[in-house]
Amino acid sequence: MTVDAVVVGAGPNGLTAAITLLRQGRSVVVLEQADVVGGACRSAESTLPGFIHDIGAAVMPLGVASPAWRDLPLEEHGLQWVAPPAEFGQPLDGGRAAVAYRDIGRTADGLGADGQRYRKLAEWLSRDWDKIEKSVLGPLIRVPRHPLTMARFGLRGVQPATSFLRGSGDDLYPALLAGCAAHAVLPLEKPLTASFGLLFLALTHNSGWQYPKGGAGALTGALAGYLESLGGEIKLGHTVRAWGDLPDHRAAIFSTGPSALATVAGDRLPHRMRKRFSRWRYGPGAFRVDFALDGPIPWTALSLSQAGTVHVGGTLAQVADAERKVADGKHPDNPFVLVAQPSIADSSRAPSGKHAVWAYCHVPNGSDVDMTERLTNQIERFAPGFRDRILAAHSIPPRELEAMNPNLIGGDVGGGSHDGLGLVARPRLSPRPHRVTDRLFIGSASTPPGGGVHGMGGYWAARAALAGALK
Ligand SMILES: Cc1cc2nc3c(=O)[nH]c(=O)nc-3n(C[C@H](O)[C@H](O)[C@H](O)COP(=O)(O)OP(=O)(O)OC[C@H]3O[C@@H](n4cnc5c(N)ncnc54)[C@H](O)[C@@H]3O)c2cc1C
Repeated sequence: MTVDAVVVGAGPNGLTAAITLLRQGRSVVVLEQADVVGGACRSAESTLPGFIHDIGAAVMPLGVASPAWRDLPLEEHGLQWVAPPAEFGQPLDGGRAAVAYRDIGRTADGLGADGQRYRKLAEWLSRDWDKIEKSVLGPLIRVPRHPLTMARFGLRGVQPATSFLRGSGDDLYPALLAGCAAHAVLPLEKPLTASFGLLFLALTHNSGWQYPKGGAGALTGALAGYLESLGGEIKLGHTVRAWGDLPDHRAAIFSTGPSALATVAGDRLPHRMRKRFSRWRYGPGAFRVDFALDGPIPWTALSLSQAGTVHVGGTLAQVADAERKVADGKHPDNPFVLVAQPSIADSSRAPSGKHAVWAYCHVPNGSDVDMTERLTNQIERFAPGFRDRILAAHSIPPRELEAMNPNLIGGDVGGGSHDGLGLVARPRLSPRPHRVTDRLFIGSASTPPGGGVHGMGGYWAARAALAGALK
């Protein structure tokens, strides 16, 4: 029997691609190599029983805002979003911290000399976000619906974060934005890094930095539950190594990296595209550590105990230094560490009075260096006594991430480097980047809008299939 579409990969993008097609009445089979759904969006008791940690993604500002999921009945399949009291924060030495709240005024009031500058930027971003959201979260090479607003965003976003922040009066505001810009996993002196800062600020003051109750796996579990309720089928433990591993189909959507697609599709791809996909450049990796704690993280700056996410790296200059070192193939002594403390607002994540903490730092792609000590020291620097609260820790180096999920090449969390044209030509320079051939489509973190849990890559790939092979 020929199925309308086969989808490779049951991560957020693959599941969303399948749901988008099923809702249009097409038949879909999803093939997943792991024995669970979720990809880089799932959870496990990796430290001690009762402590639920996220293996990949933990905090989902893009997920809660995703246009692809807004109208889906995911609550009926177990999804509940948790909003922490503060969205995110960033500590500085000496006990100070910049903290972002959903409320712009409250955030600006904490930013000293730059409060007014922040307020102006955040009010503009927040007001215009609805107009540009689908352009920012889709293929960039096309005429936007609101060209002037998009141009305003683009003119600021194209700058390196360091230039964008020049002239600040204090170090709190630059630190706050640097932490967001560092999600680009690029040196902050590189063009386009400011766009990551602007994107995450826009989300902060709209739907916030929320996360699924019970762990990241609750989101992909809900997507899978909804998919099956629509008549879709997910086959677990089914690795696609060659074209012959796919059932007969009218369209195939790969939610893999371009290099994996090139291996499977071979000469079904036009020669130049095959060459480009085979040589796809991956970005730095992630070194993950989970901590089971006997109590909350003892931040010196008490306001951070309210923040779901904490960017640990110090000032703009210190974060920029760490990210530059990683890009140069080095391992910083003081890495930029992303910390999530979901149990501050979700008691289901740890036994009573205890806390489940998720953290990672950037390292060169495929690094074999154990960063556990350096990462722990960075948290201890801003939260003396942190070490004493550790009941258990579990480290996941880049190679282990890749072994669990072949999309995470060398531990790259973003599906490919953002350097050069990496953000725009993803996986190639085209107004229809999700269409590979008439019957073949790609929708993963390696396609617009890039890495992150939002499902938009899968959504756009499914839309391209519906406009072509599945019309
Ligand atoms: C450590 C880490 C931290 C992160 N933190 C965040 C965060 O806090 N917030 C956020 O929004 N994002 C975060 N991300 C990024 C986010 O998780 C990914 O961008 C997102 O999961 C990408 O979704 P995807 O569906 O494209 O790919 P994935 O989630 O990687 O799923 C791909 C699926 O395809 C399967 N697959 C691959 N190849 C094959 C094959 N040949 N045959 C069959 N199946 C195959 C894999 O097993 C996997 O299940 C993080 C990622 C990592 C790794």
